[in-house]
Amino acid sequence: MFKIKLLAFLFIFSTFYVFAQDDNGVMSMSEFRFPKQRHIIQIPGFDGYQTLKGDFHMHTVFSDGQVWPTIRVQEAWQEGLDVMAISDHIEYTPHSKDVVVDYNRTYEIGKGMAAENNIILIKGNEITRNTPPGHFNAIFIGDSKDYIADRDNAKDKDAVMKAADQDAFIFWNHPGWKVSSIDGSYEWIDLVDELFKEKVLGGIEVFNGFGFHKKALDWCVDNDLTVMGSTDNHNVIAYNYDFEGGAHRTMTLLFAKDRTAESVREALEEGRTVAWSTKYIAGKEEWVSKLFYASVEIGPSFHSKEGKEKSTKFYEIKNNSDLYFEMELKTGKGTKNITLYPQSSQVLTAPEGQDKLTYEVVTAFVRSDKNLVVDIPLK
Ligand SMILES: [Zn+2]
Ligand SMILES: [Zn+2]
Repeated sequence: MFKIKLLAFLFIFSTFYVFAQDDNGVMSMSEFRFPKQRHIIQIPGFDGYQTLKGDFHMHTVFSDGQVWPTIRVQEAWQEGLDVMAISDHIEYTPHSKDVVVDYNRTYEIGKGMAAENNIILIKGNEITRNTPPGHFNAIFIGDSKDYIADRDNAKDKDAVMKAADQDAFIFWNHPGWKVSSIDGSYEWIDLVDELFKEKVLGGIEVFNGFGFHKKALDWCVDNDLTVMGSTDNHNVIAYNYDFEGGAHRTMTLLFAKDRTAESVREALEEGRTVAWSTKYIAGKEEWVSKLFYASVEIGPSFHSKEGKEKSTKFYEIKNNSDLYFEMELKTGKGTKNITLYPQSSQVLTAPEGQDKLTYEVVTAFVRSDKNLVVDIPLK
């Protein structure tokens, strides 16, 4: 009875309270509004490096994108990035009848909000040549007005060299885009070879949105170029990624000494990156391997079950990161397939008398045709 009275009181009081706020005929329903919040992506660091999350390739209305630069910064904050570059096309501005063409404006508009939200905003542009050679991203650039806008193929190298003269970090974007749809292949073309030999090319996009440019991974590994992963988003990111379903945006993981622009640059120059898209990671074996071992741990055996010849030991294998690992047993006897969802653990069983099991991590690529192989020690 008391409860009913209390509920009745609360109902009358809340009704009165709402109407009391209703002087202007406006009822506030702000309790239904989400507070703004940043999603934190948990990925451990190692060897004194912290793992920064970066996306260096996206567009705004200042080229062919759908959104204003500050929206890009808000998305980056909300979606857990540490560092970003907006890279509007230099030679492609289809909104020019509605938006004044000014390649520096994207950065100028975005930088205040980035600073206020602790996001490292790197100035960038996409050098947009005909395909091939296609597109190159230049980040850490100076004045965008210095770029050549002429799309004549004879001037492709000049356009990239303008950015190089500004000491930009340059990477080749989506090398298989358009080209591979013609005959299924794409090549290490002459211009890229020249840029590589002149030490102008710093990296290649291996993941572009949901596309895995597999040859690019081999080129990065064989030529010591930096592995990049980017959204290349033109629309609102949440329009393309199912965040409520647990998705993350495609990105470059950087192993950086500090959370600063200088450390980001240094990690890019040294190639300390892994690209991450959907459930896959790709990179040079050294960094993919270190990332795996920093993320995954196995505890001591917690249970033993008698068998006919040997007893079976039970272990807990744990993923302390937001990455996703699917593992297949290569050598030894034990659990054949292990799926480690983000921030989760599994039980692994193995007959006694083994000091390790060797698995292939089929969601982690170290070459186009090679996955990371890891040893899981058993105690
Ligand atoms: Zn492009
Ligand atoms: Zn692009």
